[in-house]
Amino acid sequence: MTELEQLKARVEDVRSRMAAACARAGRDPASVLLCAASKTQTAATVALAAELPIDIFGENRVQELVEKQEAGAYKSTPLHFIGHLQTNKVRQVVGTASLLHSIDSEKLMRAVEKEAARQNIVQDILLEVNLAGEESKSGVLPEALPHLAALSEELLHLRVLGLMCVPPRTADKDAQHKAFETMRLLSEKLSDMGLSRLEMRHLSMGMSGDFEAAIEEGSTIIRVGTSIFGPRSYPAV
Ligand SMILES: *Cc1c(COP(=O)(O)O)cnc(C)c1O
Repeated sequence: MTELEQLKARVEDVRSRMAAACARAGRDPASVLLCAASKTQTAATVALAAELPIDIFGENRVQELVEKQEAGAYKSTPLHFIGHLQTNKVRQVVGTASLLHSIDSEKLMRAVEKEAARQNIVQDILLEVNLAGEESKSGVLPEALPHLAALSEELLHLRVLGLMCVPPRTADKDAQHKAFETMRLLSEKLSDMGLSRLEMRHLSMGMSGDFEAAIEEGSTIIRVGTSIFGPRSYPAV
């Protein structure tokens, strides 16, 4: 099998599992986007995957994103930023990634606002939630969400389009559902705040190990790495 054939078979498998999860939940399959999490994958591999039915590429590291973008790897597939973002790297992703999934502080929101204003654009963002309050993870605690959501009223070069999470990894289906259901309820609560510029359109949740549960709980963007590209090999440093 060529690399392209292998990628194609994996994407087809993910697509059919997405369709089955949508059917179980009574959802329109077109309501869930497949974001290929392409961290550590080369520009050549990404360029092959860009020929397949993938809706979005998601990168974690600014440097990788810039390199693959400059190599033309993503072709016409939309590009999102899904990794932890440092304020000093904001300039490189604003206006390049059409959606930033991982905004998790007022400081970062203000930095993105400033850069988007400089470019005279409106940048779409999601707020990343640290559901389990894990110290090792980025994301805001659920209690801090209303404050960040309310900032959307004054930061006019940002559009908050929903929430994102990376819950603790578990094979326990009930625990998976519980986490994603909590996200859906948080999103509904923010919608109910009646903020005029807030549009809770997206729930970015679900990865290789739990995307079916995420879809059943209302995910609109799943971020899948391993199930498309195979196990990641990190270069030795
Ligand atoms: C790597 C990564 C993914 C994909 O993880 P897999 O388990 O390989 O599917 C999704 N989201 C984020 C933020 C990631 O860093």
